Amino acid sequence: MAVSDHVDLPTFIAGVSKRNPGQPEFVQAVTEVAEDIYDFIGDKEQYHKYQILRRIAEPDRVISFRVCWEDDAGNIRVQRGWRVQNNNSIGPYKGGIRFHPSVTESVLKFLAFEQTFKNALTGLPMGGGKGGSNFNPKGKSSNEVMRFCQSFMTELYRHIGADVDVPAGDIGVGGREIGYMFGQYKRITNEFTGVLTGKGLEWGGSLIRTEATGYGATYFLLEMLKTKGKDLVGLNAVISGSGNVATHAAEKVNQLGGKVLTLSDSEGYIYDPEGITQDKVNWVKELKNKRRGRISEYVKEFTGAQFHGGGARPWAVPCDVAMPCATQNELNGDDAKLLIKNGCFAVSEGANMPTDLKGVHVFKDAKILFAPGKAANAGGVAVSGLEMSQNSSRISWKEEDLQKMLIDIMQGIHKSCVEYGGSAGSDHIDYVKGANIAGFKKVADAMLAYGVV
Ligand code: NDP
Repeated sequence: MAVSDHVDLPTFIAGVSKRNPGQPEFVQAVTEVAEDIYDFIGDKEQYHKYQILRRIAEPDRVISFRVCWEDDAGNIRVQRGWRVQNNNSIGPYKGGIRFHPSVTESVLKFLAFEQTFKNALTGLPMGGGKGGSNFNPKGKSSNEVMRFCQSFMTELYRHIGADVDVPAGDIGVGGREIGYMFGQYKRITNEFTGVLTGKGLEWGGSLIRTEATGYGATYFLLEMLKTKGKDLVGLNAVISGSGNVATHAAEKVNQLGGKVLTLSDSEGYIYDPEGITQDKVNWVKELKNKRRGRISEYVKEFTGAQFHGGGARPWAVPCDVAMPCATQNELNGDDAKLLIKNGCFAVSEGANMPTDLKGVHVFKDAKILFAPGKAANAGGVAVSGLEMSQNSSRISWKEEDLQKMLIDIMQGIHKSCVEYGGSAGSDHIDYVKGANIAGFKKVADAMLAYGVV
């Protein structure tokens, strides 16, 4: 076998950095996965010989395109759009679309890479992809958002399809944006197919898709707590974000008997010592989805709460459990130490890669219960997979059936993490390692079956 087949971990990471200059998020995501996979494949000749990790860390393709649109004042605006199709070894590419000014090729490559493992963990036949644009929907009228979405889809449509690549929502892309994009796809192709998920219930959507990511991350948290003989009753939870994932995580924590202390957005966080109860969560949903307001407005409505501005994050608030549900790298090594010092013993990531590499190492070394996003937030894409199944067979499943399927899938992912993340002579489960290995193994074995393609 050639020497290059057996490069050590630092050499492998150095190669990834060299081939992807100026893409720190992508290199970070590959590093986190490679740290675990290297141990696992150490004695497994076939994965080395066929360069499986090297191949998964090279997207099948990255499509980049110009998106022009006209704002309400008649100005022509130019944005960049992307679709990253990372790997379709176990099913059509699948992953959300993000509209946010922080979107870059690096961010979307990291998300598509992570998505590949996450989708494998769900047990459903879905490959990994991700897309988006640096378009900022904040402060735009609905007509501007519509024109942007139509222009974005006018290029994207030729790269996707119900059996090719099935995008969904993500940051800045909710039901409204999916509607505009699906409308344009249908208009161009004259086809009504399940080419996007997260659709409205009247036009092919699935029940509980909206709730699934936040609910799933909370179910995963519960599964971890159960391994210690605990549940969520009476526990204090600190949650970041105030979008789809955060509000539904808050809802489920409340339903399972926990108390939610915080929510946030990019301007800061609110701390409500009386708890962000279901009524208050409903108010936040209305604020964010209908009025498109800021989380700082919460303290005007609920005067017992405090707002901490300047982009502050909620990790200094003492808690039992934490759920980062906003965005990548929102929790660093110091935040992780502070959380643990203040008594936090379980973290379930609703967002993708919200904890940076130093933070991950702090949580791992402290051996707290720590669920990485690719395991904990897989409920969203899992229900998207179920939406695809319903679309293919032109049926709609009942809510109670879908709720049960979501719980089964989250429990299945937990089981896979335990299988590959446990170690002999210890009851500690390394969920990061477990998720990485279980996701990798499924994709890798499919790739081996295909030979060199
Ligand atoms: P939303 O757009 O609904 O909400 C995003 C929230 O995060 C908002 O409160 C937003 O605040 C905040 N946020 C976004 N960017 C930043 C930033 N740079 N700094 C601080 N806060 C920020 O998105 P989702 O809830 O759908 O997604 C949240 C996370 O969950 C993302 O990491 C996403 O990839 C992940 N995820 C989502 C899934 C889904 O089904 N929606 C599935 C799996 C993972 P502001 O309004 O100020 O920007």
